[in-house]
Amino acid sequence: MNTSREEIIGKLRKTRSHVTEQRIAVMEYLESVKNHPTAKEIYNELKRRGVKISRASVFNVLRFLRDQGLIREIKVADENHYDARIEFHPHFLCKVCGRVLDLDVSDVGFYHGKIPHKVEQIDLIITGVCQKCLKKLDTI
Ligand SMILES: [Zn+2]
Ligand SMILES: [Zn+2]
Repeated sequence: MNTSREEIIGKLRKTRSHVTEQRIAVMEYLESVKNHPTAKEIYNELKRRGVKISRASVFNVLRFLRDQGLIREIKVADENHYDARIEFHPHFLCKVCGRVLDLDVSDVGFYHGKIPHKVEQIDLIITGVCQKCLKKLDTI
C-alpha cells in the first residue's frame, strides 16, 4: 500500500475534524505496514521516527480513526491490532510467532451475502501455524 501524505490528509479532511500531525503520522504508519501493529508497537515506532506523540495520544488518535471508519480494530487474544485496510478481509493468527496476516476472502470461500441480516462488520480470525513457522518446524 502506498498512500501519499496528500491522500491521507484528504481522508482526514473528510471527517470534518482537525487534521493534526499526530493523526497524519499514525495513518501514514498504518498505511505503510501490513503487520497489524498494536497501540504499543505504533507508539514505539513513531517515537523511533522522531514523531512527538504521547502514549495517551496514540490511543486517542487510534480511537478517533477507528470511529471515523478510517482504520480497523481487530481484537486478537485480548490485544487490539490496527489495520489501515478497511474493506472486509479475514485474518490469520499464527500461534507460533503471533503474527496477524491478511487473507483474501476467496481464500476462505466466504460469502456474507448469504446472511439474511444487515451486516455491518465481520471479524473473521483464523488461528493456526503460518507458512513461515511451518517451514522452520520442518527443518528442526
Ligand atoms: Zn508464524
Ligand atoms: Zn488486515
